[in-house]
Amino acid sequence: MSFKNKVIVISGAASGIGREIAIKFAKLSANLSLLDINLENLKSVAKECRELSESKVFTLVADLGKSDNVKTVVDLIKQEFGKIDVLVNSAGIARAGDIKCANLLEDVDNVFNINLISGVTLTHYAAEALIESKGCIINIASIMAVKACKGSLAYNVSKAAVLQFTKCVALELADKGVRVNCISPGSVKTNVLNNVLPPSVDIKKFWDDMIEDHPLQQLTTTDDIAHMAVYLASDKAKSITGCDYIVDSGKTLTKFGHE
Ligand code: NAD
Repeated sequence: MSFKNKVIVISGAASGIGREIAIKFAKLSANLSLLDINLENLKSVAKECRELSESKVFTLVADLGKSDNVKTVVDLIKQEFGKIDVLVNSAGIARAGDIKCANLLEDVDNVFNINLISGVTLTHYAAEALIESKGCIINIASIMAVKACKGSLAYNVSKAAVLQFTKCVALELADKGVRVNCISPGSVKTNVLNNVLPPSVDIKKFWDDMIEDHPLQQLTTTDDIAHMAVYLASDKAKSITGCDYIVDSGKTLTKFGHE
């Protein structure tokens, strides 16, 4: 499989799942537009990608929660490459907090802005280019999208919206040749979850204990998610649109949650 001459735009590319997706596409000779708010991490991922491929790696540091930034980012990508073939919306944050949490409204605002609105805005500004290339969009949702669990209200609701956004845009763009799908990862060892663990939690033990929640007796990795993203972006998935792919080592087959 090769993505030579394809242009892949990845939000949240500086870390975790976005980083792994960038590396996979670099290995497949794609041109990359890597977007993130974290300059240092983004530089390091871009360096890794350049070492793997001779294709172009273009980085843009921006807060994608701000729609003006997103418009500028998409304009710059179009100037650089003249097209967009694949948009991966992976930027995301989590906040620990329930309905009585003092910061609830502020947290909901921030979490929605990144987890949902950044993807909506990128899709809006990139739609014309994606229609021209008959490209595709991959949104990173979560198994939390369909689960009520205590302490992550803003996150779960934002991800439920990502699922529905995926289906609605898939239908809107289907007759224009653009496919839109999402991946719902289970628990993957990255910063998004580590960042919301209370300081008292032993992070290594937390992840070790988590293995028991998985029927396959393993944690899902960033590599597992990136393979799915590559598949969905490829011609092998040409009949697939509006779908949610759960990649969770069987976690949703049993009880789960972080209560
Ligand atoms: P991560 O924290 O490693 O990566 C998230 C990236 O998003 C970071 O590089 C961060 O800098 C970037 N980001 C955050 N706010 C931003 C902003 N305002 N503008 C631009 N970039 C911003 O976490 P991850 O696990 O790789 O998360 C990637 C996606 O996967 C997220 O949407 C997350 O919700 C989803 N997800 C993760 C898990 C998991 O267990 N790790 C499970 C389900 C879904």
